[in-house]
Amino acid sequence: MEHSTDKPGLTLLGLGDMGTALARAWLAAGHPLTVWNRTSGKAAPLAAEGARVARTAAEAVAASTLVVVCLLDDASVGEALADADLTGKDVVNLTTGTPAEARARAKWAQARGARFLDGGIMAVPPMIGVPESGGYVFYSGSRALFDAHHGTLATPAGTTYVGEDPGFAALHDVALLSAMTGMFAGVTHAFALVRGEDVPPKDLAPLLTAWLVAMTPYASEIADRLTSGDYTEGVTSNLAMMVQGNATLLRTAREQGVSPELLTPFTTLMERRLAAGHGDEDTTGLIDLLTP
Ligand code: NDP
Repeated sequence: MEHSTDKPGLTLLGLGDMGTALARAWLAAGHPLTVWNRTSGKAAPLAAEGARVARTAAEAVAASTLVVVCLLDDASVGEALADADLTGKDVVNLTTGTPAEARARAKWAQARGARFLDGGIMAVPPMIGVPESGGYVFYSGSRALFDAHHGTLATPAGTTYVGEDPGFAALHDVALLSAMTGMFAGVTHAFALVRGEDVPPKDLAPLLTAWLVAMTPYASEIADRLTSGDYTEGVTSNLAMMVQGNATLLRTAREQGVSPELLTPFTTLMERRLAAGHGDEDTTGLIDLLTP
C-alpha cells in the first residue's frame, strides 16, 4: 500500500469541483484518503494520485472514522448516506445548505450513532490547499469532533468554529454570501450606468474597488449601534440626507436609461424608515423593518 504516512486517514464523499480540490489538498499533505463519487469516472485521476476508491458510499464510510461529505445539496447527502452505517462515525458535512437543513441533518446523523459537524466553505476551488488565498470554512456542531480532527480539517483551508448549534455555520455562510450579493448588485448597477459613455470599464473597476473597501467599516459601525440599541450613535451620514441622495441616484439611472430595479428595494426601505420619523439614524433601523 502506498500510504506510508502518520497523517490520519479520512473518507470524502463527492468529487465535484469542490470535492476534487479538497481531495487533492489532503492527498498532497499525505493524508490517506478514501473517496467515493456517484459518477465513478471522476475518481480515476485521484486514484492515480494515491486515493483509494470505494465502490459504494457505504463502503467509503466504513473505511474511516472521519467522513467528509461535499455534495450538491442536502437532499443528495441523505441519498448518498442512506445505506451507510454511521455508528461511531465523525461526519463533517461541507455541502452548502440552510441552517434548518443543517440542524435536521445533525439530528439525523446523531440518531444513527454519529457525531456531526456542519461546514460552510468560504472559498472557491482554486483557493483550496492555498493558505495564502485566505479561504476558510465556517464550522458548527460538535466541538469535540472539531477538536479531534482539527489538524485534518485545517489542511485544505482555514477553520473558523462558530458554535455548537449545527445551523450556525450555514447561517454565517449565508449571511456573508447575502452581503456579497448586495455588493454584486451595486457593482452591476454601476457598470450599467457608465455603459455607452466614454468610460472604459477597466478604468471604473479600480475606483469601485477602492470605494467599496473604504466603505467597509460600515459593518462594524452597524454592529455597534445594534449592540447599544441607539441607532443615532456616531451617525455621520443620516437617513434624511441619504434619502435625498437616493433621489439623485434614481434620476441618474433614468437619465442613463438604466433600470433602477437593483436599487429600489433598498431605497424604498430607506424612505419607509424616514417616513416613520427616523431621519437622524443611519440604515441600521432598516434591520427592524426586515425583521418585524
Ligand atoms: P459540483 O456540481 O461540481 O458537484 C456536485 C457533486 O454532488 C458531484 O460529486 C455529484 O456527483 C454529487 N451529487 C449530486 N447529486 C447527487 C446525488 N443525488 N447523490 C450523490 N451525489 C450527488 O459541485 P461542487 O463540487 O462545486 O460543490 C459541492 C458543494 O460545495 C456544494 O454544496 C457547493 O455549494 C459547495 N461549495 C462550492 C463552491 C464552488 O465554488 N464550487 C464554493 C463553496 C461551496 P456526480 O459527479 O455523480 O454528478
